[in-house]
Order: sequence, then C-alpha cells, then structure tokens
Amino acid sequence: MKKIIIIGGGIAGLSAGIFAQKNGFDSTIVEKHHTLGGECTGWDRQGYHIDGCIHWLVGTKKGTPIYNMWTTVGALDGVEIHHPESFMAVEHVGITVNFYRQLNQLKSSWLEISPEDIEQIEEFCSDIKQLHSFSIPSGKPINMMNIFEKIKYIFSMKNVSPIMHKYGKISVKELSMKFKHPALRKAIASFMPEGDYSAISVIFPLGTFTSGQSSIPKGGSKALAKRMVMRYISLGGTVETSCEVVEANIKGNKLKGIKCKSGKSFEADYFIAACDAKVLYEKLLKGRYPDQEFEKRYNNPDIYPLASNIYIGIGYDGEMHDIPRTLKFPVKSVDIIQNQKPIEYLQMTHYGYEPSFAPKGHSVITFAINQFKSELDMWEVLIKDKEAYAKEKERIGEEVINAMEIRFPYMKGKLKLLDVATPQTYARYCNSYCGAFMGFWPTISGKSLVHTGYIKGLNNIVLSGQWLQPPGGLPTSLITGKDTIMRLCKKIKQPFISV
Ligand SMILES: Cc1cc2nc3c(=O)[nH]c(=O)nc-3n(C[C@H](O)[C@H](O)[C@H](O)COP(=O)(O)OP(=O)(O)OC[C@H]3O[C@@H](n4cnc5c(N)ncnc54)[C@H](O)[C@@H]3O)c2cc1C
Repeated sequence: MKKIIIIGGGIAGLSAGIFAQKNGFDSTIVEKHHTLGGECTGWDRQGYHIDGCIHWLVGTKKGTPIYNMWTTVGALDGVEIHHPESFMAVEHVGITVNFYRQLNQLKSSWLEISPEDIEQIEEFCSDIKQLHSFSIPSGKPINMMNIFEKIKYIFSMKNVSPIMHKYGKISVKELSMKFKHPALRKAIASFMPEGDYSAISVIFPLGTFTSGQSSIPKGGSKALAKRMVMRYISLGGTVETSCEVVEANIKGNKLKGIKCKSGKSFEADYFIAACDAKVLYEKLLKGRYPDQEFEKRYNNPDIYPLASNIYIGIGYDGEMHDIPRTLKFPVKSVDIIQNQKPIEYLQMTHYGYEPSFAPKGHSVITFAINQFKSELDMWEVLIKDKEAYAKEKERIGEEVINAMEIRFPYMKGKLKLLDVATPQTYARYCNSYCGAFMGFWPTISGKSLVHTGYIKGLNNIVLSGQWLQPPGGLPTSLITGKDTIMRLCKKIKQPFISV
C-alpha cells in the first residue's frame, strides 16, 4: 500500500485524506494546530460560540455534483441547511437595499426604491438568472478531461461564460455607477473596497445564492470540519496534530521525508502540501523550486490582491430575530489601525438560527472587516509589539460596540466584546500568508490562476487547496483536495473511486 503524507488538515487536506483512503492509500495528515479544519473553524468565548468561517457555502443544493461531493466527505450528510432570506441588507440614508434570495423579490424591492433604474435592474437580474445554470465543475479538472469531456464542459458553460466575461471586465465601482439611485450604488459598491476589483465578486455570489446553491449548514464551520475528520478516521486515516512541518528532505527529484518542529519525522511515497502555498515554496522548499505563476502574483499585489479580516465577536443580551442575518450599516466613527482611512460601513452577522451558539435569550454577533495589502503589512509590524497589538484589538472592539450602540440605541449596555481576531491571528494559527483567505481576489487586470499543484523539479509532492483555482474558499479546497488524489491515481494508472 502506497503511503501519503498530507501536510495540513484544513478542508483541502481532509478532502485529500478522505479520497486517498477511499482509493486504497495509507494516509496521514500532519497538522500544525492541535485541531483540524484550518480556516474552517469556530471558537468558544464566555458561553458564546463564534463561527469563524461559513457565511455562505456553495454546494448546499441537493442533487448538485458539489453537494454530492460534500456529502461523500461527510460534511453535509443529513445536515439541516439554513436558507437565509437575503444574502445581505445594506442601509443607506434611511433606505435598506436587500439582496433577496428570490430574484423577483429582489427586483420588485429595488424597483420600489428606484423606478428610474428599471432598465439596469432588469439587466442585472437577468444576468444573475443566467448564472443559475452554473454548477461548479467538480468532476474532473479541465486539464484531465478528454476532448469530448471538454466539449461537454464548454457547452455546459454557454450561458455562464458570457456573463463571467462581461462582469470580469468591469470593476465593482463601475457596476455600481450604472445605477442612478445612491442607495443601489452604495449597496453594490459595498461588496468591495474601491479599486480594480472585478464585478464577478458581486454577480457570482448572487448567482449561486439566488439559485439556492449556497446557504449555511446548521451547526456551523467547526462542526462541518469535525464531521470530515470523523469520516477520514472512519476510513482508516491517521492524524498527527501539533506537528508543524519545518523541514523537507529532498534527494534528486523526490521528497524523501519531512521533519516537524516537535522532532517527529515522516517518510512516504507521496506528499501533498495542503498548506499555504508560500509555506511550501519558501519555508519547506527554501525557495529552490519557485513557481512563476505564484511569483508573478506575490510580486504584483495591486493586480493580484490578497485579503484577510479583522473578525470581531460580540455577545448581546437580547434576541435579534427582526434584523437581517447579514447587515451592512454606515458608520462615522470606526477607525481601523490609526492613521488609516476610517471605514464607512460595518458588516455584521448574527446567528439567531443557531440557539446553541449563545446562552438562552442572548445572541452572538460577528463583524468581518476586510483588510488588504497596506493594512496587512501594518498588522505584521504591529504584532511585534505585543502590548500595542493587544491595545489596538481592544480599541477596535470598543469602536465597533460604540458604532452598534449608535445604530441600535436599545442595545446600549447590553453588548460585550468577546474576541477580536486579526490577519495575524490567521497567520499564527493557520500559517496563512499575510493571514489571507480565499486566494487571490479577482481584478479586471489580473488573470485567474488555475494551477495543477505540480512542482517543477519534484515528482512526488503536489500543492493542494484554496490557492489553486478561483473562486477560492471552501469548495475550491474540497475540489482541489479530491483532484490531487485523482491526479495521483492517474499517475500510477489506477482507476479513481469518487464515492
Ligand atoms: C473569516 C473567514 C470567513 C470565511 N468565509 C467563507 C465562506 O463563507 N465561504 C467559503 O467558501 N469560504 C470562506 N472562507 C474561506 C475558507 O475558510 C478557506 O478558503 C478554506 O478554509 C481554506 O482551506 P484550505 O484547506 O485550503 O486551507 P487552510 O484552511 O489554511 O488549511 C491549511 C492547514 O495547513 C496547516 N498548516 C500550515 N502550515 C503547516 C505546516 N508547516 N505544517 C503542518 N500544518 C500546516 C494549517 O494549520 C491549516 O490547518 C472564510 C475564511 C475566513 C478566515
């Protein structure tokens, strides 16, 4: 039986592990942290559970290939799905713009706000609808398809490709400016900060959301990862936690073994690096096997931006059933890392549909504040001064509570700060480069990265995970984990078992 070592036990590592076991390999996941799941996680604070990941998961619609794959890996087996009524609601000068799940409802509510935008609203809704035939390609990676499979795939994308092309060429800002009403403009523009970000970041999530393909599995992110761990172990996979891989022993064109900080070492026939790409190329391979595609992106952060989050958990002594699950509201006071531009909107999410996430009669709320290159650099500097770093986290948390009390005066005195995670938290716990998640973000000048994970010069180690293909996120990690084993089966001329 061939031995595989998987470096990293996030969703990509778990997916690779599960498909490795199903295909008759003997695999071990070697994970840095004491628990598995990587960025798909959650944590408990003062009686509340802070869900640290899933705001929407592509693949929750029964019968779709990606749903079937989530079920195969144990993530969605028999799991109840929560379908929020709206993707998010954005407030602007007394008007609330809702991105409803039902396209007709979205359309009529927007027409009520702005009848003079009828043409643009109709075009926007019709474009979203055209994406409803989209199903994330999860069967075979394109470069493993034969000519007939490729033709079938291209045909299946006939409605989707023109829309992706159309929105890939314009920025979020340009899309927003097509609407006349300031509230609609603001609502669309609020998807991304100002810049070159392509409007795919608006249309794609709305396409999957309104077609019922993306919702929220009950129990949250940590529970989803835990189910995958159980599936992996039940298939005979083994796990080594608190084992950060720090050294790779290379002979010729082969990786012979790896060594962990703890002193443990492992040998195998094949290795899968389901960790951050930068960790693989720079820390483990010491820069000796650079990849041109990744280099190009790391060296051009304006065209290929990375994003992370400040993620704030707040407990509220009360219930929030009358507030949309995800709400963006304008703020005047919140200043993130002093000297930076103060932010205009706060995005909050509450979990009223998860009674176990908060004590009875209470609610847990999270705020995600996206952070881009200049802020990511500042966090990297700030963490070197532990006291200043802790103070800044506390200050941001208090600012957010103040902003909430201004927006919801009846909450005054009933809110408490539970936790503030920063980009450096993700860097520390998951070894993720700059704390980034979701890979490189789509811009109008950038080219999407679609990578096999192969490393030129080494023939028994491959990269897997969120960095390999758009749109990043959990489905990409799931699919690339599976693809890695599919490629390995092909290499050793063994049929691939997918269920
Ligand atoms: C706040 C937040 C919200 C998000 N919301 C969503 C969402 O709503 N929908 C969605 O689809 N996606 C979302 N994502 C993105 C999603 O979480 C990630 O894309 C996905 O979890 C990445 O999985 P991965 O396995 O590719 O990488 P990771 O989760 O980063 O896993 C890599 C693993 O490798 C381990 N590792 C790293 N280096 C080493 C080493 N040297 N030795 C051993 N182990 C190592 C890490 O500890 C980690 O466990 C969100 C992410 C965040 C942070």
